[in-house]
Amino acid sequence: MCQVCALALRQEQHTVATALSPEAALQWLEHETVDLLLTDIAMPSMTGLELARLAQQLQPLMDVVIMTARASYSLLEDALQQGIADFIPKPFDVHELRLTVARALSRQRLRRENVRLATLAHVVEASQAFANSLEQASVAAALSAAVRRETNIDCVHVLLNDGRMFPAASAHSPCRYTDGPLGPALTTDLRAHDAPVGHLVIAATAEQQRWLRDSEVLQLLMKHGALALHNAEMYANLSDLDEQKSEFVALASHELRTPLSVVLGYSALLQNRLEGTQSKYIREIVRASLRLNDLVDDLINLRQLHQREAPLHIERIELVQLLRVLNVHLQRLAAPRAVTLQFRHPRRAIWFEADRERLLLALAQLITNGLRFTPKGGAVTVTAGVQAPTHGGNLVFVIEDTGIGIAPQELSRIFKRFYQVADSRTRQEGGMGIGLPLARTILELHSGSLRVESQAGRGSRFIASLPPSSLVADI
Ligand code: ADP
Repeated sequence: MCQVCALALRQEQHTVATALSPEAALQWLEHETVDLLLTDIAMPSMTGLELARLAQQLQPLMDVVIMTARASYSLLEDALQQGIADFIPKPFDVHELRLTVARALSRQRLRRENVRLATLAHVVEASQAFANSLEQASVAAALSAAVRRETNIDCVHVLLNDGRMFPAASAHSPCRYTDGPLGPALTTDLRAHDAPVGHLVIAATAEQQRWLRDSEVLQLLMKHGALALHNAEMYANLSDLDEQKSEFVALASHELRTPLSVVLGYSALLQNRLEGTQSKYIREIVRASLRLNDLVDDLINLRQLHQREAPLHIERIELVQLLRVLNVHLQRLAAPRAVTLQFRHPRRAIWFEADRERLLLALAQLITNGLRFTPKGGAVTVTAGVQAPTHGGNLVFVIEDTGIGIAPQELSRIFKRFYQVADSRTRQEGGMGIGLPLARTILELHSGSLRVESQAGRGSRFIASLPPSSLVADI
């Protein structure tokens, strides 16, 4: 029987091993992995069901098919409870045998696939935890925790290139990596983009080390962990660079102030003396120098506000008066561009407290942007007022334009320092990408906020809010 079955299955390209007693089969299963066990139900030393139970203890993912001449319901029930899902009633022909085995093998493949997916779900969860952190220390701690969980081994450490160890070494730790009760350790390089980022050290017996080396899950965890460690290192370097860039910008802008004042001073003097073409040239020089002066001022302001070097000067302000100042200054910009600039506000006086100069700066930036990014014939409308208490009760300034708008993927980036949308209009308009970060910083320092809604090609709407606490009760 055994020979016939083996022959029929080998003809189907299966690899088949045979054993003539349950004990011989079990002995073999201790060392070799199999997909399927095909056994008779009645054997001298134990039943096929007993063999199936013992075999599945050794290899839980294995499937079993039992050949029986006496299929009864109670036998079937017992077998099903043990997870033995198939029978083949005797007598059977070769065709039936092949079909039953094919069915059992595909069931077995599904079972393996399920286990693999469940394991991969753990890996995905762990790698999300890695990706959630930009700090090397927390990525390293999460990696060693994930490896501990997956391997069920308590002593797992991540060693970084700079010598730091996670979890940190402690006198109470039972982990001894050399000559301890757990034996030697398995040390594996953690590499990302071909560069070493550290090591993973696991205290493991020689036998554990063998399966750890073959573990696909461990390989995946190490790969994802190493990448996250690499990213965290790059992020730390970038933060350093950003800091250095800010320092440089601050220094350079301070140094530019003095020569710029000299240029402005002398050109103002010359403006009164020169005539004709020369007077036109000097006007251009003054205009460009004033623009440069504004940029330098913005840079210094941004830096001072970020570093909290310049405290706010809070004073009482009346809303309509504030808007009037903006109107006077900015109509001058709107007219040559043929863009209409309108202000809307409630009739009654509204008093509030804020740093007047800074708030003017923030609102002027937003309105100027509206004017710059709105083509001829368009309109910029500034609407100011207090929200109903049910809507938050904030003092709100809405700066709305009918201009070129902003693409959805750019909406969060435009508030980053030195960021500009890469299009021809932006290049035409100049600027340095500091207007919006400056405006947002000013509002946030007042415990307020600045957000944007926009559709490319349809215009933008910037909404600046100050909290209800900034409002002064009617005097
Ligand atoms: P910049 O001075 O370079 O314009 P900002 O920080 O003020 O810097 O703005 C950043 C970018 O956001 C601009 O380059 C522009 O692409 C976009 N932007 C700002 N305001 C508007 C607006 N009202 N309409 C369309 N795009 C805008």
